[in-house]
Amino acid sequence: MKLFESILNLIYPPKCIFCQQLLDYSAVLHICSPCYTKLPFSESAIIRTSQEDEESCCDGAMSIFDYTGMVKESLIRFKFYNKPGYYRTYARLIADKLGKLTDIKGYDIVMSVPLHKHKEFIRGYNQAYLISKALSRFVKIRECSGALKRERYTESQSLLDRQRRNQNVKGAFSVRLPKKVKGKSILLVDDILTTGSTLEECSRVLKQAGAVKVFAVVVATGRK
Ligand SMILES: [Zn+2]
Repeated sequence: MKLFESILNLIYPPKCIFCQQLLDYSAVLHICSPCYTKLPFSESAIIRTSQEDEESCCDGAMSIFDYTGMVKESLIRFKFYNKPGYYRTYARLIADKLGKLTDIKGYDIVMSVPLHKHKEFIRGYNQAYLISKALSRFVKIRECSGALKRERYTESQSLLDRQRRNQNVKGAFSVRLPKKVKGKSILLVDDILTTGSTLEECSRVLKQAGAVKVFAVVVATGRK
C-alpha cells in the first residue's frame, strides 16, 4: 500500500462503504467480508450503452454492480452525503475487473463525465472525477478529464424518461482540448449507467473530435 493511503487510513480509519463497519487500517478494499459475499456483482461482461435499435458511439461499457439495494445506498452516500472517500474502493474494483476483461495497455487516457461547475461547487467534488483519478493511478494511464467540458446545466436525468434524457443531454458536452483525444482510445468513467444517454453523448463528441475508441466503466447499472 502507498504511504499516502496508509496515512489516510490512520487519520480516517477505513469503514465498509456498504454497512460502515470499521475495518483494519491496512484494508485495501473498504468492504467487510459479510457485505462482500452479499454484493450484487454484475454478471455481465460488456454491456451496451444504447438501445438495440440505436446506433452507438460508445464501444461498450463495463459495470461492477447491479444498481440495487446496498449498492444504491452506498452510491447515494458517496454522491450526496459527503462520502467522497468511497472513490478508492470503487476505482480499485473497476481496475481489477478491467484487468480481467480487456488489455488495459490498449487504452491511452482515462477521463470522467464532467459535472456542471455549479453542481460541482455545491457538492464540493465531482464523484466521477475522483474515481477517474484513482483509476488512472491504479492502471497507470494518464488522466485527462480536463479535455471534456459540460456546456450547460442539465436537469437531473433520474427524473426523465428515455426520450427526454436523450434530448436533455444533446449538446451538453464539448471537447475543450481536441488534441488530447484525437487518435486516442479512452476509458470514460461515470458512477451510474441508467439509460446510457449521458455516456453516449460524451462518446459522440469524443469521436467527433477524433477519438478512436471509447469504453465506459461505471460502478453500477440497471442494465444487463
Ligand atoms: Zn459491510
